[in-house]
Amino acid sequence: MSLPLPRSLSPSKVSTFRDCALAFRFSAIDRLEEPPSPHTTKGTLVHRALERLFWHHEPGDRSPETARAELAVAWGELEESGELETLGLGVDHAEERAAFRADAAALVDGYLRLEDPDRVTVLGVELTLEADVGGLLLRGIIDRLDLTDGGELVVVDYKTGRVPAEHQEHQRLGGVQFYALLCEQVLGRRPAKVRLLYLRQPVCIEADPSDQALRGLRQRTSAVWSAIERACATEDFRPKPSALCSWCAYKALCPAFGGDPALASAWPLESGPDETPLPAAV
Ligand code: SF4
Repeated sequence: MSLPLPRSLSPSKVSTFRDCALAFRFSAIDRLEEPPSPHTTKGTLVHRALERLFWHHEPGDRSPETARAELAVAWGELEESGELETLGLGVDHAEERAAFRADAAALVDGYLRLEDPDRVTVLGVELTLEADVGGLLLRGIIDRLDLTDGGELVVVDYKTGRVPAEHQEHQRLGGVQFYALLCEQVLGRRPAKVRLLYLRQPVCIEADPSDQALRGLRQRTSAVWSAIERACATEDFRPKPSALCSWCAYKALCPAFGGDPALASAWPLESGPDETPLPAAV
């Protein structure tokens, strides 16, 4: 017996496998949907507001007021989805709900301190790119693809978590380099820059996707894929406890915490992830 291989790999899946093979199995092979958390929902809300800002407004019409108005639209969509109630942020929790929304507004304001959206030429937002790289299907969604005045492409990724420590920065940029690789394969042009916008601090981290960086990324991705193939063939996905376990949606199934992976068939279980503040990964 062997487990089925995932159809494709994304930067977040590569990162999940490297962090913990068992969490990867639950997510990518058993396809257990992660329940929403305040962190992920807030990130989605802010991404949606910025997506609307660039998709519905031309340069000259992207003022701070417009950005805040688009956050209000995105908030309305979220209210309609019922997700706030799932998170315990229903209308009967007015104070927590207001704090949640105010924090999302602070993240949008953080974005506006990083760049002037009126000066950005956007080619696409929330772009889904797929490419076959060496027989492996890579897939990713790019938050924003820009065109500079000099005609070069720039990949932009919004982050609502904390800025990574210096030793993690390389890994985070690796994720965005992955998008640069996808652009090169799908659009036939390598972006001149990849840029991570950390909205909370706010801080911008950027890198140039060099030949060497993309070659290294191809090699690392290929090595991860080989490891996934071996793990699927032997059904051997081991837990790797770390600080990240506090935010793991699958903790209740994890043998490292007394859980039983066999209960995956009864997913979703009653218990959810902890609500401890996120580390620098999101
Ligand atoms: S709780 Fe920790 S060790 Fe267990 S699956 Fe999640 S990340 Fe892996």
